[in-house]
Amino acid sequence: MSENSTTAFGSAFAEKMSIARYDGDRWQPWELVATGPLPIHPAIHALHYGSTCFEGLKSYRWENGEVRLFRLDRHVARMRTSAELLCLPVPEEKQLTDMINAAVRHNADSIPDLPGALYLRPMLIGTDENIGKASAPTSSAILAVLASPVGDYFSGGLRPLKVMLDEKNMRSTPQFGQAKCGANYVQALGIIEQAKARHGADQVLFCPDDDAQETGAANFVLIDDKRIITRHLDSSYLHGVTRDSVLAIGRDLGYEIEERAVSISEMKEFIKTGEMALTGTAAVLTPVGTLVHNDEEFSVGDGGIGKNSLKLREALVDLQSGRREDTHGWITHA
Ligand SMILES: *Cc1c(COP(=O)(O)O)cnc(C)c1O
Repeated sequence: MSENSTTAFGSAFAEKMSIARYDGDRWQPWELVATGPLPIHPAIHALHYGSTCFEGLKSYRWENGEVRLFRLDRHVARMRTSAELLCLPVPEEKQLTDMINAAVRHNADSIPDLPGALYLRPMLIGTDENIGKASAPTSSAILAVLASPVGDYFSGGLRPLKVMLDEKNMRSTPQFGQAKCGANYVQALGIIEQAKARHGADQVLFCPDDDAQETGAANFVLIDDKRIITRHLDSSYLHGVTRDSVLAIGRDLGYEIEERAVSISEMKEFIKTGEMALTGTAAVLTPVGTLVHNDEEFSVGDGGIGKNSLKLREALVDLQSGRREDTHGWITHA
């Protein structure tokens, strides 16, 4: 339960989790239980037909001892969108919000000091015990909120990433990219493993039809002294809360925001002088140092950590940590 620098992100769990069941008719009241195995039958819908989705958000203990969550409402809304896309019983807004808050409050002792956090992982699984239900939605489900104490994602220091551009494959599909679900991850895995083995790449940026979308688990931004450029939202990729937060903070800091399609040739031209970064709850804002395209490597700026990336990252971390005023109303009490 205790977090130390050797524990990998997401492999330690706090004592309690909140859990609720959908019984085919309605959501039952949630309860708090010891974190541990779920009683599931091997025939459940989620295991065979992929009816499962999840969320990921963080709570923090500020230096004054207070416990806060970052953009809880957005994560609750996104989980409901994912559930709907996958024909799962949609969690009620209030119940899911209460369950996440409870998982924070009842594990408050397990929240590491800053820059650590208590990562919350709401998960929803279809639990109908029926392997014949291949073409029908599950009518029962379990919703649970796991809590995991996490350290700084970059305990070894912020290291610029190497990202391979892939223009042949898609991470997900045009209609399901918006769902935060395991199926999307596992589809991308083989491609990412290949890029690691061939190029030592950390991630793959999927650019089907020369349209840069996102990596396996993060959105991308291009940054220079004046502008932040990122892809416009549509149903083909995951709408990151961090992406949205970086754009809003960027606007506050005077950057112009461009949300539009980005081609590979534009990206390669941009990074000669500009910066590039990936955004996500776990990694916050992580600089990209090198792009790989058609077996050739291209340095992003000088390959190091750009000053604009660092400035935006610090502004976001400061806001999450209570050191910068929350002018957007993003911070809530557990
Ligand atoms: C969760 C996720 C992100 C990042 O979203 P945040 O809300 O910023 O954490 C980006 N891409 C994918 C595919 C994701 O699953």
